[in-house]
Amino acid sequence: MSYLAKNYNRKKIAFKYGKGSYLFSTDGKKYLDFVQGIAVNSLGHAHSKLVKTIRDQSKKLWHVSNAFQIPEGEKLAKKLCQKTFADHVMFQNSGAEATEAAIKVARRYFYTIGKPNKTRILCIKNSFHGRTLATIFASGSKKMTEGFGHVGGFDHFVFGDHKSLKKKITKNTAAIMVETIMGEGGIKVIPDWCLKELRKLCNKKKILLILDEVQCGISRSGDFFAFEKSKVAADIVPIAKGIGSGFPIGAVLMNKKVAVGMIPGTHGSTFGGNPLAMAVGNTVMDIVSTKKFLNNVKKSSKYFFLKLNKLKEKYPSIIKEIRGRGLLIGIQLQTDQTKFIKKLMDNKLLTIRAAENVVRILPPLNVKIKEIDLALKIIDKVCSEIK
Ligand SMILES: *Cc1c(COP(=O)(O)O)cnc(C)c1O
Repeated sequence: MSYLAKNYNRKKIAFKYGKGSYLFSTDGKKYLDFVQGIAVNSLGHAHSKLVKTIRDQSKKLWHVSNAFQIPEGEKLAKKLCQKTFADHVMFQNSGAEATEAAIKVARRYFYTIGKPNKTRILCIKNSFHGRTLATIFASGSKKMTEGFGHVGGFDHFVFGDHKSLKKKITKNTAAIMVETIMGEGGIKVIPDWCLKELRKLCNKKKILLILDEVQCGISRSGDFFAFEKSKVAADIVPIAKGIGSGFPIGAVLMNKKVAVGMIPGTHGSTFGGNPLAMAVGNTVMDIVSTKKFLNNVKKSSKYFFLKLNKLKEKYPSIIKEIRGRGLLIGIQLQTDQTKFIKKLMDNKLLTIRAAENVVRILPPLNVKIKEIDLALKIIDKVCSEIK
């Protein structure tokens, strides 16, 4: 019997240790891990530089209050700002905290410029922005909000329905918040031209654009931020997952304009931005943000997509579509994916589901081609057996 609450439907498997793309189970089996904590371990398991960073920093200083200067956080914020559109950063500990803080930044901006009624956030129906009370209502998902009362302030439009999007903008709208690539929602990429139109629309209506890059950001898409390819700028960008490569870190990046609202006392986090987390973030950032690293993600991605599309052609009755960008990949099946994922696992490949019958594939960003080949071999085998 388990003393843990039953809010997860866990697979009956546990792991003893991990190395790079692999996980080793307590019953002595070796798995190719293409879940990586759901796009979290961007450098795979037990990366030597991260092990060293944690070891070194843990001997010096773990935690101090944000009542004091934290040089490690200053350093990481500077790196993030110099690499992106952002002028300021606010550190958190998770994705949901980051998206929720992004909403606060947007509302507080309008409050500060004398428009306190502009509070509503317009989101995509059945999107995912985390599991706090506010962010579940941002998702507009019946499944996630059922039984949790009501938190107002959110409006929704349907993915791809530009007419309804325009109609839903009112005088009280503060921001549009979308995932640049919808992760949980089924690896749905917002096309570059749509992002451009979104930016134009926000400028025209004088509202803010929040791009949730918690899953698709930090080089996962092959660019540091997925929206960079479209050349648009966001006003506010929550990040988390990949930036800690397994250490819990979240952050909100924002431009100068909106940062005016965040004066002392408006937001805080006891753990957010502590020296241990910041040391890890700095090391991850130094590795994943270089041009060479990004080019390698693009190269691995191109290879993976090419081969997956070949499998789609080989098994059209099983595979409907290959989705995604970079190493955020979805295999959309013709029917429910549960059995498929189970069979992949029986063949020692770990993947995870997303909406719309999608099998989500999230290798570490430093995955090797021979590991991709092994995954392809297993997917091919499972397709041939299911057929
Ligand atoms: C995972 C995720 C979140 C929530 O992150 P947590 O760390 O689980 O709170 C928010 N937005 C997106 C797009 C995500 O994928």
